[in-house]
Amino acid sequence: MKEIVVISGKGGTGKTSLVASLAVLAGKVVLADCDVDAADLHLVLAPQVKSVSGFTGGKKANILADRCNGCGKCFEVCRFGAVVRQEGRRPVYLIDPIACEGCGVCSYFCPEKAVEFKPALNGQWYISDTRCGPMVHARLGVAEENSGKLVTLVRNQARMIAEEEGLPYIIVDGPPGIGCPVIATITGADAALVVTEPTVSGEHDLARVAELAGHFKVPVYLCINKYDINPAMAKKMEEDALSRGIRLAGKIRYDRSVTGAQLSGAAVVEFSGGPVAGDIRNMWKELVKYLNTSEER
Ligand code: SF4
Ligand code: SF4
Repeated sequence: MKEIVVISGKGGTGKTSLVASLAVLAGKVVLADCDVDAADLHLVLAPQVKSVSGFTGGKKANILADRCNGCGKCFEVCRFGAVVRQEGRRPVYLIDPIACEGCGVCSYFCPEKAVEFKPALNGQWYISDTRCGPMVHARLGVAEENSGKLVTLVRNQARMIAEEEGLPYIIVDGPPGIGCPVIATITGADAALVVTEPTVSGEHDLARVAELAGHFKVPVYLCINKYDINPAMAKKMEEDALSRGIRLAGKIRYDRSVTGAQLSGAAVVEFSGGPVAGDIRNMWKELVKYLNTSEER
């Protein structure tokens, strides 16, 4: 079984659209949408949800009014401004759940044991069926953190399903950037496919993401999307990538049918039989070739 993680330095590079096409080309796969802060793979693959589970990635404080004596110690010790003091004949203290970082200090210092400190429901994760195979996806609550933990959970579930069902590929839609969720997405993967565009910021993003993947010893492959909007820059990026030991998986031309596919909720290779679909097919073939010739991890 091989796990391919599709990532990009920033959002809007066509990453998710490409993931959907790769899933269609792969036949039956397990999909993992690890872009848990802004999941959108479901827009193309229309998953039928089979199970929903809660995600508790941390704890939150809550003041039990019937035990609180209003001493204000929690207000004093909270470094995150999450304890709110409401003035009145007698001040009342409340916790702002969005500001609470779950450090537990207020609970520790409360003389009345009036602060309960419980696991909080930070989001939900789902196992669904799609036309390309099972999909694990998630939704993090508004202003919730711990997306790295949720990403790990999604990947582990996807791996278990792939093992149970004997499916050869897991295709992961990764989050953009180089932060904690991206690290949680790429560590231990068989390949990171970096999707970028031939622009100055795309070149910069490629360098950052490639460095990160290299640090975690994940083989990196490059996809230059819309390469024909700036062929000279695309060539330079390809050469730079090669000098860093990054192999070119493929280049995809600019084509309006990509937008057409998005609007009709289809993967590009389902929507169009034109040259852009051909570019994606060629890239998938290259990737499979690389993966099958790389050592078993
Ligand atoms: S420290 Fe405890 S008793 Fe004092 S105000 Fe806060 S919750 Fe109430
Ligand atoms: S758990 Fe930490 S962050 Fe949350 S209210 Fe208590 S002291 Fe503040």
